Amino acid sequence: MPEADAFIDLRSDTVTTPSAAMREAARDAEVGDDVYRDDPTVNELERRAADAVGTEAALYVPSGTMANQIAVHVHTEPGQELLLERESHVYRWELAGAAKLSGAQTRTIDAGERCVPTPEAVREGLVEADLHRPGTGLLALENTHNYRGGAAIPADRIAAAAEVARDADVPVHLDGARVFNAAVALGVDASDIVEPVDTVSFCLSKGLGAPVGSIVAGDEVFVEEARRVRKLFGGGMRQAGMIAAPGLLALENVDRLADDHANAERLAAGLDALDGVRAPEPDTNIAVVDTEGAGIPASDLVAACEDAGVGCVEFDAHTTRFTTHLDVDGDDIDAAVERVGDVVATLGA
Ligand SMILES: *Cc1c(COP(=O)(O)O)cnc(C)c1O
Repeated sequence: MPEADAFIDLRSDTVTTPSAAMREAARDAEVGDDVYRDDPTVNELERRAADAVGTEAALYVPSGTMANQIAVHVHTEPGQELLLERESHVYRWELAGAAKLSGAQTRTIDAGERCVPTPEAVREGLVEADLHRPGTGLLALENTHNYRGGAAIPADRIAAAAEVARDADVPVHLDGARVFNAAVALGVDASDIVEPVDTVSFCLSKGLGAPVGSIVAGDEVFVEEARRVRKLFGGGMRQAGMIAAPGLLALENVDRLADDHANAERLAAGLDALDGVRAPEPDTNIAVVDTEGAGIPASDLVAACEDAGVGCVEFDAHTTRFTTHLDVDGDDIDAAVERVGDVVATLGA
């Protein structure tokens, strides 16, 4: 049971703190200077990460944002277009990094409610270079889709979108910050989702529970260039084995993501039963809760929930995101539903 007054933090799956085993692994990690590729723990993490997504090679980087921006930088020339879904993280939440760091011009695809870009939409969005037009340098997809409530996009739909780009000689990057959540929800191996794309990023520091770090992966030629760009972006780290060691343990947390998904489902069901609240069944660990029917703006809900001991984040005018992770269990979820229920009853009155 949660302590009566303990804060239940569902703002993000990034809020987890490292387990005792992770702290011990960090303390005991064998290290070296990773810029010289002398850190055995980082080297091991990169090998294991590449295996986990079925790529030739992988690179350890400080964040998911850096992983994506490295991919954009490696794949595009300044002035080329970057084709993206319009609610994607790379487009909406990375401070226009593609424009600022890589000089890319962004074109967006509307992928609808389920956020699966159709082959037709990709075809329409691709631009061939000519006397007037810059040409598309990269198509970037996202799975699971954060803004669409952690939607798990089936591997064949990713493959269909990617095939159109690759037929036009345009590489494809997958923002797979939560690709293992997608794999677990779909009952496939992450490598099945990654197989049709050229490069992928994923976060060790979200549902997998590591304190720091992400991976960007692809073939050896890509990773060699990505290593140079990581240095350029200020992400060359020295005795990084200290933070990579917990990352190795994080890779063992893939199967348990199913618990987070079950907790998100339990949370959504509990909240959906409240008057004026809509919380569709989530695919993975993100529940998106709509309080328009109760006349409660998301900003009010978030503030009142915080006072009541539940952390969540505002998504839009009337939608709020609740994310489950390895530091909350079923009892925490039941307590959260009760607290949010009280908040809704008070604010909606
Ligand atoms: C969290 C997230 C990122 C960025 O990861 P950071 O480590 O926070 O920089 C990128 N894409 C998606 C879809 C994410 O959810």
